[in-house]
Amino acid sequence: MQQQTIALHAGYEKDKNNPTMAVPIYMSTAYEFEDTNQAADLFELKELGYIYTRLNNPTTDVFEKRFAALEGGVAAIGTASGMSAIFYAVANSAEAGDNIIHASKLYGGSITLFSQTIKRFGIEARSFDIDTPEVIEALIDEKTKIIFFESITNPSVDVPDFDKIVEIANKYGIITVVDNTVATPCICQPLKLGVDVTVHSASKYTTGQGLAIGGIMVENKLLIDKLKDNPRYAHFNEPDESYHGLIYTQVGMPPFTLRARLSLLRDLGAVPSPFNSWLYIQGLETLSLRMKQHCSSALEVANFLESHPKVQKVNYPFLQNDKNYKNAKKYLKYGASGLLSFEVATKEEAQKIADTLELFSLVVNIGDSKSIVTHPASTTHQQLNKEELENAGVPSGLIRLSIGLENTQDLIDDLKKALK
Ligand SMILES: *Cc1c(COP(=O)(O)O)cnc(C)c1O
Repeated sequence: MQQQTIALHAGYEKDKNNPTMAVPIYMSTAYEFEDTNQAADLFELKELGYIYTRLNNPTTDVFEKRFAALEGGVAAIGTASGMSAIFYAVANSAEAGDNIIHASKLYGGSITLFSQTIKRFGIEARSFDIDTPEVIEALIDEKTKIIFFESITNPSVDVPDFDKIVEIANKYGIITVVDNTVATPCICQPLKLGVDVTVHSASKYTTGQGLAIGGIMVENKLLIDKLKDNPRYAHFNEPDESYHGLIYTQVGMPPFTLRARLSLLRDLGAVPSPFNSWLYIQGLETLSLRMKQHCSSALEVANFLESHPKVQKVNYPFLQNDKNYKNAKKYLKYGASGLLSFEVATKEEAQKIADTLELFSLVVNIGDSKSIVTHPASTTHQQLNKEELENAGVPSGLIRLSIGLENTQDLIDDLKKALK
């Protein structure tokens, strides 16, 4: 089945008692058991069912199943935000004394999570440049638990060499985790490229209209083979005392999401509200149509900017002379999402353009149906000096655009005026 169809039907079954066309919102904290025996069976996983919404919920269930189907995964866990999905991916793999390896070009929140917050949990983060993935091998030791990167980096819009990174990870039996937020399952399917786990911020293209904060983590069907009897992941192969001796790789369920649900959701509790899960389901129904429009508009805008005398450089992986063009054509389906950036000569000029644009709102977000302009040097990367900005790939004259669903010519006209 094609994604356009999956997005409308996967994970939801109507029946006589529940014939509703739209997926219902189950606003309920808990669920009644038939009797104490059934309650015990549910807790022991002898029977699968609903217990308490911190563990599972019928609306969130549809969101998880549908998203897993779109991504080509075997199971998924909905989370309260993209950041909690990323933290769960780390906490499910590593513990104090371990390390993770990550691309240096990442969403700002992920960089601070890795460089500051997980350090306080005793987990070390080692970074690599995605332009030179071969350096990863030298960073690996027996305590390395994941290799983390983004399929299209935010904000620098680079596309990594998936094959190379996956090959190194597989050689050492290490879990790869990809943040697929910017690309979405419609443009890139990392699990089909051999990646083990994907994470997303559902706050972006999934809701598609900037409506709610949420996230999701998806597991590859083949991950169980990497985890089973792998000494690097003893916690998936030894009895979990916090769950009466359960061994995650031996219960016949996808072990990564199972452990995340039974131990991380149970103990940390960052789950989506059923109402937000329902919003993501509405968003998914139109995701493939929206992404096509975001991509074609972004490419048109990128072409316009490239031809403009005031613009020094345009970053969009589907432009033929972009340094990511080869990887983009190889790993992305029909476009490179709605995110692009361009450089003008000075910080002042960039600020003037950002302030003059009328259709583009000055906002630090992406993936909204409304177009957005961001000037990283005066917002997200304000604390960095000129040299640090260059190193981070965000020179002070850089402007980032998230191309929305407005008429493309209207967007180009707005840019023309602002660039005068
Ligand atoms: C926004 C974003 C996140 C964080 O997601 P939240 O839902 O805001 O917590 C993570 N990764 C990428 C690439 C993002 O764009």
